[in-house]
Amino acid sequence: MSVSPSRLAAISAANNYRTTKTVAFNESHSAGLFGKNVFNDKIMQQRLPKAAYKSLKKTIDTGATLEQGVLDIVATAIKDWALEHHATHYAHVFQPLTGITAEKHDSFLEPDGRGGAIAEFSGKQLAQGEPDASSFPSGGIRATFEARGYTAWDVTSPCYLVENANGVTLCIPTAFVSWTGEALDLKTPVLRSMKALDEQARRILKLFGHQNIPMITATAGPEQEYFLIDRNFYLSRPDLLTAGRTLFGARPPKGQEFEDQYFGVIPDRVLAFMHECEAELYKLGVPVKTRHNEVAPSQYEIAPIYENANIAADHQQQVMITLRRVARKYGLECLLHEKPFAGVNGSGKHLNWSLGNSAQGNLLEPGHTPHQNMQFLVFCAAVVRAVHKHGALLRAMVASASNDHRLGANEAPPAIISIFLGEQLADVFEQLKKGKAKSSKSAGTMHLGVDTLPLLMKDAGDRNRTSPFAFTGNKFEYRAVAANQSIAAPLAALNTIMAESLDYIATKLEKAPKSKKFEDAVQDILTEIAREHSAVIFNGNGYSEEWHKEAEKRGLPNLRTSVDAIPVLAAKSTVAAYEAYGILTKRELEARRDIAFEQYVKAIAVEANVVTEMVNTKFLPTAIRYQTELAQNVAALRAAGAKADTGLLDKVTGLVDKLTAELAKLEEIRADHVSGLEAEAAHMCHEVLPQLLAIRKAVDALEAVCPDESWPLPTYEEMLFIK
Ligand code: ADP
Ligand code: MG
Repeated sequence: MSVSPSRLAAISAANNYRTTKTVAFNESHSAGLFGKNVFNDKIMQQRLPKAAYKSLKKTIDTGATLEQGVLDIVATAIKDWALEHHATHYAHVFQPLTGITAEKHDSFLEPDGRGGAIAEFSGKQLAQGEPDASSFPSGGIRATFEARGYTAWDVTSPCYLVENANGVTLCIPTAFVSWTGEALDLKTPVLRSMKALDEQARRILKLFGHQNIPMITATAGPEQEYFLIDRNFYLSRPDLLTAGRTLFGARPPKGQEFEDQYFGVIPDRVLAFMHECEAELYKLGVPVKTRHNEVAPSQYEIAPIYENANIAADHQQQVMITLRRVARKYGLECLLHEKPFAGVNGSGKHLNWSLGNSAQGNLLEPGHTPHQNMQFLVFCAAVVRAVHKHGALLRAMVASASNDHRLGANEAPPAIISIFLGEQLADVFEQLKKGKAKSSKSAGTMHLGVDTLPLLMKDAGDRNRTSPFAFTGNKFEYRAVAANQSIAAPLAALNTIMAESLDYIATKLEKAPKSKKFEDAVQDILTEIAREHSAVIFNGNGYSEEWHKEAEKRGLPNLRTSVDAIPVLAAKSTVAAYEAYGILTKRELEARRDIAFEQYVKAIAVEANVVTEMVNTKFLPTAIRYQTELAQNVAALRAAGAKADTGLLDKVTGLVDKLTAELAKLEEIRADHVSGLEAEAAHMCHEVLPQLLAIRKAVDALEAVCPDESWPLPTYEEMLFIK
């Protein structure tokens, strides 16, 4: 058999794979691993003097600033703990606007002045770092002459140890800000938005008569989808290696049409990989819970138990890092791109989100008493209002060149942001519109009037997989989030727009005339919101063509591409909401918008580069060699006096000519002079991308006729089905 070396290597890797024990969950229980490498509450309590522990705990639980004196004590305790675990370095970990995790490492060791060295770690070193920030995107906020950026310890997210075969590093979660105090990262707005949400939610709870209300936190449980393919294939595909997705590849004879992958038996090598990932994540205190096969071949999912949203965002970064790192140990590559393969499902990240605290519980949980239900409806209505007002922003928050391939592709939520509420709740909103909700569908005759709201059943109504934003019983699921993306920015957006809606409702209720019964005031505001914002509620099939028409009638924005969506990041309504709660300023938002455009342009430019290179160095040479072979065959036949059919030669020649012409056209398009970020992005979107597709079409047609043994790339069939 003469097939490509990568194919042979992958076949033998898959074939020869034998499980080697690295985790042995069957011998030691996983509970012992959980949080092993985290400076968590238990360790803090053990290691800190009582007063210092109390002070730190207060900061974590209430958001109060950490007392100055405590910092050094905490730093020493963390250092001692880290050194006992053989750490040699500490690293401030932050999330610059590229969305990846960045870290700057420093050794604990410092010269002692007598030829030796001692381990040093002060409160200041814990609390603040100073990485040179000039190479991170800032969207023009920071000129290079003021390149300094600061990392500041996020006290609410615990420090942890990262193990490597050759050493251990103490990692400190931090926020990253500029010399002038502007946010340069994704965490800072999350922290600010958590605070805003807390303040506004507590105002509402106070109106409902609660006292001594503990801090409200947003909670998040992000489900991560990903592909795993043999690394031999990955390394022989420049498109996957550089652009993260296949830019070529004819459809395989079989795709996902048998629906035999979803929840199917997990292949042995993949399962071993999952075990090790989970063990590593347990050690970091990441509460991963669920694993299963996803819809597309070689696609999988991992999901944690939800937690404080800021911590969940940090943990989600760890999940992505761990998936990638561990995959390599198993000869696999983890693909987090939203659409690595055309023709089969892409990957997303469902961001499950709610809010609550230890005393009032989950505020999006329908209650058991009419009073509780009224409170639930207020929070639910706040979400409806927020998503209606800022649907375009929720679309913009997930905009990227890669996610565009997924949104609206009949497998993922459309670019139109609507809310699925389920039949029962949607019905309640319909009734509220009329001024009074009298009954709740599944609860039969329950009264839902002035002071009698319905008993709502959890999970009444179907699941809807086509909605970009769905109520799933006691939380909302923001499904449009991209597989490759940090959840931080979408999360901050949700918190912010929710804070704005809660503020609006609280202000109305506080201003209601004293003579009015509280229940009546609540009823009025619910009715008002139902009337003005129900257009965003949609329980039907989000994939259907009718919905696109209907959504347009309802005035819901349909921002099909990132180019349409990105400007919303700094639109008037966004600036108003973000500035009102001190999340980000207009300047910071504009910077983020510009970075999003830049990244979009760069991503497609890289794809165009890869396409050009692959066509020139792989496909054209392969096709021309075959064309020559066919021509020689025709000549030989003719010389021998035999009849020669030139059909195949003509076909290959036609495709070679077509490919050459399409590539020349791409070059022409790229030579167009376009100036300005937004115009460049539009040019990429409307001119360059379609041309890449035209080239792909010619290449994929060649793949279907060229000899298998000469084809220079692993095929879809091989990548997706050899495991
Ligand atoms: P599915 O949507 O696949 O049916 P589940 O109901 O198991 O899944 O939940 C999916 C995710 O939602 C999990 O990560 C879970 O922890 C998270 N989740 C559950 N409750 C909440 C909540 N109150 N806030 C945020 N996330 C939550
Ligand atoms: Mg889900």
